[in-house]
Amino acid sequence: FSSTAIPDPHIKPNVMYSGIFINNEWHKSQGGNTFETLNPTTGEVITEVQYAGKEDVDHAVQAAQDAFHNNSPWRTIDASQRGRLLYKLADLFEENAAYMASLETLDNGKPYSHSFNIDVMSSINFLRYFAGWADKNHGKVIPTDGQYFAYTRHEPVGVCGQIIPWNFPLLMFTWKIAPALAMGNTVVIKPAEQTPLTALFAAQLAKEAGLPPGVLNVVPGFGDTGAFITSHPGVDKIAFTGSTEVGLKIQQASGQGRLKRTTLELGGKSPNIILSDVDIEKAVEAAHQGLFFNQGQVCCAGSRTYVHSSIYDEFVERSAERAKKRVVGDPFHIHTEQGPQVDQTQMEKVLRYIDMGISEGAELITGGKRHGDKGYFIQPTVFANVEDHHTIAKEEIFGPVQQLLKFQELDELIERANNTDYGLAAGIFSNDLDKVNYLVARIRAGTVWVNCYNALGSQTPFGGFKNSGIGREAGEYGLQQYTEVKSVITSVYKKTS
Ligand code: NAD
Repeated sequence: FSSTAIPDPHIKPNVMYSGIFINNEWHKSQGGNTFETLNPTTGEVITEVQYAGKEDVDHAVQAAQDAFHNNSPWRTIDASQRGRLLYKLADLFEENAAYMASLETLDNGKPYSHSFNIDVMSSINFLRYFAGWADKNHGKVIPTDGQYFAYTRHEPVGVCGQIIPWNFPLLMFTWKIAPALAMGNTVVIKPAEQTPLTALFAAQLAKEAGLPPGVLNVVPGFGDTGAFITSHPGVDKIAFTGSTEVGLKIQQASGQGRLKRTTLELGGKSPNIILSDVDIEKAVEAAHQGLFFNQGQVCCAGSRTYVHSSIYDEFVERSAERAKKRVVGDPFHIHTEQGPQVDQTQMEKVLRYIDMGISEGAELITGGKRHGDKGYFIQPTVFANVEDHHTIAKEEIFGPVQQLLKFQELDELIERANNTDYGLAAGIFSNDLDKVNYLVARIRAGTVWVNCYNALGSQTPFGGFKNSGIGREAGEYGLQQYTEVKSVITSVYKKTS
């Protein structure tokens, strides 16, 4: 990432919005509850945020239902106009990019250069990509049998309840709202309790962009707030990104009483496969970034790096050298590569996994401890001689802890790589086309990167096989989650081809 060409951060960004956003207005929690959001770099409180309870979720869903009424301003504008509103929102993100990136770094702890170059810039791309789709996702005329004229309409699903995690707070917010709004739905979205601030600021920008009242509602809170959304009879569709554990609960809750369309983007334990013919320096760097990016808090992190035995020892040595060089510290500093974990709970969870790795017999090569004593930092950690049965090779750690495993044969490797309940992503590094193609077809994952990792874009679908999720987000495939297909069949007097 180029860290020189970006504007200076706002070191102490002023928090402007901490309320519940319904009908384009800011509200206090009806139950009078608030929660604190902390700065993970210091552990200090940033601000109190309004905590949405059941009454607030009811209010937000009612607003979203009203905004979805057949005669509402939102339902009666041109599809192209919906696109223009999203383009305008993207422009406002661009105007406020340095502030938004700073707010993200303050609330989440990720390095400012990443917040700016990745979180905010990708959010803008995502909004523009879906803005363009608003008037292009049309139905078909179908040559059906009989004396009929048949066509399909792609209609919005209705009120979308969206629940997002803390690792990419603004980016997940835009991943969720952009396709929903482009297709004409209305939204009630809950940001994660650890990182509500950028979504709240973005809500105000949506109002400034001209979104009619009730189209986008933001209800900050904890898991119970999310559960009020998933169980609400007025919600037509649920879209969730978060852990598989909560995803399973959501799948159940959203099937109670009525069928809500449900899409889930969940966890992973993704294999990153390094064959013997690679440029080892490049592969080490790619595997390093594929795991350590975002403090290791990435659902598709390459958290099982399988390295061919012929280059394994050198790969371990170089990976450790690279991890030792990783710049950990103040996320507002332009050269920082790794900030703190998002909160104390996550930091402690990661440290527990490191202890498990050691006690189960994996070899700790570097790191392994908390970094400093203020904030929630962890040393970049590398484990070698990791075996498939080790807990650190099976469970999602969600931290800066790299597992290096050894393999010999491709078929054995495929069995091992697929021997997981997850199936989110995989990486393959090799220039041997036959081997690459052999692996690509056999690895069970929603995304396979070849000679790259974490290459995500607005245009390419993203989602999981198996327990990593249901449905796809981004790209044209992502639109399908936000439309209902209506077949219209009209009797005709006499048809002709
Ligand atoms: P989490 O599942 O604990 O929380 C995610 C969101 O769900 C939060 O907003 C939380 O408040 C809410 N929630 C918690 N309990 C709920 C309930 N019972 N009903 C409704 N909502 C509830 O996940 P997390 O710890 O915030 O995020 C990390 C996880 O997210 C990791 O497992 C990671 O792999 C996954 N993730 C997946 C993707 C993806 O696209 N597949 C992207 C980012 C993160």
